[in-house]
Amino acid sequence: MKFVYRFGAHRADGSARMKDILGGKGANLAEMTNIGLPVPPGFTISTKACVHYMRTQEMPRRLPAEVRQGVRFIEEIVGRKLGDPAKPLLVSVRSGARASMPGMMDTILNLGLNDITVDGLARLTKNERFALDSYRRFIQMFSDVVLTTGDEEFEKILSSERKRSGAKTDADLDAETLGRIVGRYKAKVRELTGKDFPQTVEDQLWMAIEAVLKSWNNPRAQEYRRIYRIPDDWGTAVNVQAMVFGNLGEASATGVAFTRNPATGEPKFYGEYLNNAQGEDIVAGIRTPKPLEWLEAEQPRILKQLLTVFRKLERHYRDMQDVEFTVESGRLWVLQCRTGKRTPRSAVRIAFDMVRERLITQDDAVLRINPEEVHALLHPGLDPKAKYEPVAKGLGASPGAATGEVALTSERVIELAAAGHKTLLIRHQTSADDVAGMARAEGFLTAAGGMTSHAAVVARGMGKPCVVGCEALRVDYSVRKVKVGEKEISEGDVVTINGTTGEVIIGPVPLVEASFSKDFEAILSWADKRRRLGVRTNADLPRDAAKAREFGAEGIGLCRTEHMFFGEDRIGAMQEMIVAEDSVGRRKALAKLLPMQRNDFVRIFREMNGYPVTIRTLDPPLHEFLPKDEPGIERVAARMQVPKDKLARTVERLREENPMLGFRGCRLGITQPEITEMQARAIFEAACQVKAEGVDVRPEVMIPLVGDVREFVLQRDLVNQVARAVFEKQGIKVNYLVGTMIEVPRAALTADDVAREAEFFSFGTNDLTQMTYGFSRDDVGKFLPQYLELKILRRNPFETLDTEGVGMLVRLAVRMGHRARPELKVGICGEHGGDPDSIKFCHAVGMNYVSCSPYRVPVARLAAAHAALREEREQQAKAERRRSRKAK
Ligand code: PEP
Ligand code: MG
Repeated sequence: MKFVYRFGAHRADGSARMKDILGGKGANLAEMTNIGLPVPPGFTISTKACVHYMRTQEMPRRLPAEVRQGVRFIEEIVGRKLGDPAKPLLVSVRSGARASMPGMMDTILNLGLNDITVDGLARLTKNERFALDSYRRFIQMFSDVVLTTGDEEFEKILSSERKRSGAKTDADLDAETLGRIVGRYKAKVRELTGKDFPQTVEDQLWMAIEAVLKSWNNPRAQEYRRIYRIPDDWGTAVNVQAMVFGNLGEASATGVAFTRNPATGEPKFYGEYLNNAQGEDIVAGIRTPKPLEWLEAEQPRILKQLLTVFRKLERHYRDMQDVEFTVESGRLWVLQCRTGKRTPRSAVRIAFDMVRERLITQDDAVLRINPEEVHALLHPGLDPKAKYEPVAKGLGASPGAATGEVALTSERVIELAAAGHKTLLIRHQTSADDVAGMARAEGFLTAAGGMTSHAAVVARGMGKPCVVGCEALRVDYSVRKVKVGEKEISEGDVVTINGTTGEVIIGPVPLVEASFSKDFEAILSWADKRRRLGVRTNADLPRDAAKAREFGAEGIGLCRTEHMFFGEDRIGAMQEMIVAEDSVGRRKALAKLLPMQRNDFVRIFREMNGYPVTIRTLDPPLHEFLPKDEPGIERVAARMQVPKDKLARTVERLREENPMLGFRGCRLGITQPEITEMQARAIFEAACQVKAEGVDVRPEVMIPLVGDVREFVLQRDLVNQVARAVFEKQGIKVNYLVGTMIEVPRAALTADDVAREAEFFSFGTNDLTQMTYGFSRDDVGKFLPQYLELKILRRNPFETLDTEGVGMLVRLAVRMGHRARPELKVGICGEHGGDPDSIKFCHAVGMNYVSCSPYRVPVARLAAAHAALREEREQQAKAERRRSRKAK
């Protein structure tokens, strides 16, 4: 097995296709070399070394020899040698996993410096100050990351020396002071570790490589992988690369650029740079960088070269790139490129523009949009009619607006979020340690940092609103307050940010929903052309139905009629029905509900003109409609004018040990047929009424919680009987279907019997998951976190369908159902119907449609197209492989 792959100086052992073993960074360094960009030479240690190290806690035996060869390769190209007193080579050692994990793992710069080579570097660059500055940075970083001393003691020394010499920033420190800092640093290392700072450069390199491999498993990297669902067993690659210096003086600089705007998608480069600085200075957000356009005045030739690089990269990768570069004494080097992280909004704009620029196809554009991120496009903005007075303004780093209670630490966000509060994280600047809190906050606001700072990058990745570089803020963690001019904000106060404009407002501001942009409409229409799954919505109210239509729903897959009974004016009649002692009493109460329910259906049918509407008969246990405690019983009894004791007895009679497995679903309609009868009447009378208005109405009546086909048959016959009666009376006939939910495992296992009677199946995967796992939907939270941590479960099965267990029942039921009734319509209406991975499964098993909440409809449209396109591309690749095998 080979571990080391070289790149730089027009020859690379790898390419962009080798991300699995070279990591994203390593693969792109190789690729950039291959397309002729100026990349400092280096080599990548493959992820296989990390996997080996994780498994055995030892380095692969052949690695040292390969690393020595790699170092020799760099030395030959650069003409300097690692540890050479006269012409020392310095290298960086960086992590780089298959998926980008910005700032999560370790990096060491300026490796190769010791007490002797530092003099060599000073002579070589004729710059003593620079050499000493590099040495002190190296000691600090190496000690922190490799010797695990932390950074704090070094920062203290640095700041005391800054004060003593009167320097405003680190860039003002002179050689003499830097020399003194190096001395104090070395003494500190001895004090903290009991050993001298390592002077042998080979040891330095080896220790750094080991530290980077280990950093794959540091807690923040693990947390990041959990959030972004990156497998733990991928491992990281390690990139060892010749250093180039952006801090050699004013003709040197370091910068970060995006080939298009990562916040808005505007087709113009977007970048920042700092003169006389190293890359980490930009990311750390300590000095506020300058916009890249300013290079036009300072170094126009470099700007021109950069623009050529951007064009070349975009044409080659056919995507927006995030580029890191360094100018060393007037010479441009490209250190890294990767697919740029972007806001969902900018992802849409870029994909749309690139289709117009003929860089990608419509299918590519559809596949470029992550369905999960799409609902961020529906992120609210500030109500344009609202009046407010911003207290400060920073840089709008990630669009959308957020309002929340202020938290100054990630821990505080987590506490507040656990208690159900919406939070806004405010920090001087964020770091990788804050990611857990950031995942739970509504948005972020930082006092420091530019558009490429940690907070900005993470916010765009998560699709959350963010304002950075708001310099008017003074964050004082010791008293947990933020000062803005005269004003003071305490933790817990409500603050609003506008990530589009950078405005900061104390207090809440009303938010409004965003509407679809033209580009997004276009991409969704391209998705619609390619998907095979229909997309319906779960909606119980005409208002939700209208919203869902706006988002492109092609019908209703689940109308939970019980939600229509909860209104102020309705619950009374429902309670009366429950308390009634016989069928006559129940009918009387139901007669009051009939017109209200009919009216709801009329409005829903009108909204869904031409599209099917699946209406489910009553499902939840009846006690859900009754009061639970003494005062509640008293209040309701008084309103109903029944004796308190009578109501209390009904409540007691309906109390169940296990309500989810109790008196609910079709069991209600079977034992109290008047309920189903009233609902069926409301449905068909409404259908006849709107048909007479000229509405194309397509009702589908759905019976819940069927476990035995005989349950279904009883309810279906009742529904048909009511339909006949209504049609006869009204003299109008409406086409309709009667089908069932498949949510009890027994129904899935006897799906052929059920399908012979039912005209459609809709998988109720909430209950099906509950009953297959035996996990109560309502109590799973008590142990789910541990189950995820212990990796008993990989995902929450109530969010993402368990394709092995629950999915096995689904697959079986679809197959048996189709065999018994080939024209059987099959859909899903559990929460999984809006989850992209579950949608992929629904596509694969051959369902007709998915149904999800209105806001997830666009997500589902895209996810369904992804499933179809991916399947097609896999089949093409397979056919291609077959052809090439035959040709051989
Ligand atoms: C289901 O069980 O998946 C379903 C859609 O029904 P409910 O969530 O209403 O039980
Ligand atoms: Mg259910």
